[in-house]
Amino acid sequence: MSGEATANAVLDIDLGALVGNWRRLRDRLRPGAICAGVVKADAYGLGADRVAPALAAAGCKLFFVAQIEEGVVLRRLLPEAEIAVLNGLLPGSAGEFVARRLIPVLNSLGEIAEWRHSGSGLPAIIHVDTGMARLGLPPGELARLAADPSLLAGTDLRALMSHLACAEEAGNPLNAAQLAAFAAARAALPPAPASLANSSGIFLGPSYHFDIARPGAALYGVNPLPGKANPMAQVIRLKGRILQTRDVDTGDTVGYGSTHRRGGPGRIATVAVGYADGWMRSLSNRGSVAIAGQRVPVVGRISMDLMTIDVTALDPQAVRPGCLAELIGPGNDVDAVAAAAGTIGYEILTSLGRRYHRVYSGGVA
Ligand SMILES: *Cc1c(COP(=O)(O)O)cnc(C)c1O
Repeated sequence: MSGEATANAVLDIDLGALVGNWRRLRDRLRPGAICAGVVKADAYGLGADRVAPALAAAGCKLFFVAQIEEGVVLRRLLPEAEIAVLNGLLPGSAGEFVARRLIPVLNSLGEIAEWRHSGSGLPAIIHVDTGMARLGLPPGELARLAADPSLLAGTDLRALMSHLACAEEAGNPLNAAQLAAFAAARAALPPAPASLANSSGIFLGPSYHFDIARPGAALYGVNPLPGKANPMAQVIRLKGRILQTRDVDTGDTVGYGSTHRRGGPGRIATVAVGYADGWMRSLSNRGSVAIAGQRVPVVGRISMDLMTIDVTALDPQAVRPGCLAELIGPGNDVDAVAAAAGTIGYEILTSLGRRYHRVYSGGVA
């Protein structure tokens, strides 16, 4: 393994900032509500093995993952935590849920029945669909459950949850419609703690907070309020190593497909990050990086392991093999990179390369 000094790219992950974000979200919640931590997809690409213990040390007691395999890994790290699995109970998986003390998020009457027959007093969260048409009991199944509470007999109902489709658009009428549908579902089912808000949902106000909030993206620095100032602290910084520089002149082309053609003399630097590292090919000829605090444009196609930048404007002494270019950082945060790539911060984070040399700092001692 290469060390930081020779790594092709270095990903700094600030667990102190992450924990600060969790506290900031928790402090926004209505009194009495608890703040869970969503750590699915390896904590949005940042490393669940480091992120989840840092959140637990800060007081987070309930974690959500997507897949049972993620829950199994998390259970080894956090023997005491409550761990809920959003993708629910696949046929035949109940034994593993019980053995690992994982809480399934039950998404259908079929899952509810399978869990009930797997043992008595087993904990579960029930997910009702209020407008996503993705996971959760559809309205017809909710009505059947409401009409026959014996379907839940013996199940330890830990929470009733639903998920917002448009929480990052405060003015979207679907938010209020989902809130009303969720209130109706609560009224129809046995009493249980309620959970509706993801990161952006927390910012829709206290009527969306209920008893448990489920933020993910905002913990990791993604702006829960697109188009407005980001209330969250940035958590990651990504730096790529400059491998080589060269002079180019009028008519020279740069990279695959010769998509960038020089209109005059200049200088190109090659950085050791490419689409195999999650620096998406859609960032070809898009966006910029910073060298010694100065922004320079990406030119040419992103290739698998490399990208090229136009450093004509910089002092050649500042751009030498071994120097670092900042790809994600204060002047170019996750959301800015996502905008340039035509995607959302979530996808930038969950695409972060496995080849990056990761350096964790901060956290809770
Ligand atoms: C991923 C997910 C969350 C977290 O959403 P963010 O927008 O990342 O805060 C919450 N609830 C459910 C059901 C999810 O799938």
